[in-house]
Amino acid sequence: MDPKPGTLAVWGGEQGPFWEQATQVPVVHSVSFGYLDVDDWLDVAKGQEPGHIYSRNTNPTVQAFEEKVRCLEGAEAATSFASGMAAISNTLFALLAPGDRVVSVKDCYGGTSQLFLDFLPKFQIDVTLCETDDFEAIEAAVASGCQVLYLESPTNPTLKVVDLARLAEAAHAVGAQVVVDNTFATPINQQPLDLGADLVLHSATKFLGGHADALGGVVCGGAEVIGRIYHFREITGAALDPNAAYLLLRGMKTLHLRVRQQNESALRIARYLDDHPAVTHVFYPGLETHPHHDVARRQMSGFGGVLSFQVQGGFEAVRALLPRLRFAHRAANLGAVETVVGPPATTSHVECSPEERAAMGIPESLIRYSTGIEDPDDLIDDLEQALAHLAVLQPQINADGHR
Ligand SMILES: *Cc1c(COP(=O)(O)O)cnc(C)c1O
Repeated sequence: MDPKPGTLAVWGGEQGPFWEQATQVPVVHSVSFGYLDVDDWLDVAKGQEPGHIYSRNTNPTVQAFEEKVRCLEGAEAATSFASGMAAISNTLFALLAPGDRVVSVKDCYGGTSQLFLDFLPKFQIDVTLCETDDFEAIEAAVASGCQVLYLESPTNPTLKVVDLARLAEAAHAVGAQVVVDNTFATPINQQPLDLGADLVLHSATKFLGGHADALGGVVCGGAEVIGRIYHFREITGAALDPNAAYLLLRGMKTLHLRVRQQNESALRIARYLDDHPAVTHVFYPGLETHPHHDVARRQMSGFGGVLSFQVQGGFEAVRALLPRLRFAHRAANLGAVETVVGPPATTSHVECSPEERAAMGIPESLIRYSTGIEDPDDLIDDLEQALAHLAVLQPQINADGHR
């Protein structure tokens, strides 16, 4: 019987044996690895024997991190990067060539959208961005030919859900590779490779590391394609630092516990907010009212720790509310043990004008809420007292208790 995710989170990449019988993966701060025998050195350098030569290529601590993620995603191979954006950009540049076409969605992570709009076109790579929740439109764009279908689900910051299995099938019909950014869902909640994706990637900075103290990225998939992406990274040089790899490895040992709690707390908080008179809309795939709740139920085993909600009173209300939260960092991050909040206007969509955000369906009164592992009773109390203050500013809400 294959070990379950909780066991893989703890033991993946940790099987040793390590230096001096250490039970923990050593942090190997060595840039290069020395050999007494020149023939042994040659064998390792040519990849004929296992071992390390130079840490821009491979490093034992970094390799343990890659192995842990590989196990959790159920992939044949994995390679890592200095950040999530390095993973995304290296993967796209390794897969694509001038004249190729990528199909993706409008709600990708901000940095990824900039790659699509500003960088790939400079290399004569054609990019088509479809409405995220219009699966027919995505299928039609894919059917007219592409090399890569790039997806993200759930999306940032409005938690749209994309039907991964359905769209992977459409992509494979035209011989395209399917790449999925699984950062928001984590391998605990969603396994894109089982749903038909060819490659799954992460900003390990978020839920995988979970402690907001290390940047990293990783991509998993078949050995041949990962070999090509690895080769691109070894030459372009966005290697993961061994110290960051250790922090990510250590964080991942509790991934299943954290994510289980975050799923549970986020669902409770989403339901609480959905009933609150000062909240006009809650975006969370776990709510039955989410437009693709059925797809989320099919492809996810938990709905994740991130939600977003809209308050009455526009950006002024956001400005009044956020400083009142006791148990939340106001910061541009997510997936940490601490709750983190922020408006898209200062986080994911800072580079857009209010009009552009409106055109993307991102209201100015939206708050992204990344649930930490605090006691959910305290998080709800905290929201309650902060929202009550907001309602005080709007007596008509207090008067009848309704919107
Ligand atoms: C943060 C994030 C990224 C970028 O990751 P970095 O580690 O900050 O480079 C990519 N995709 C998603 C969904 C993210 O949330």
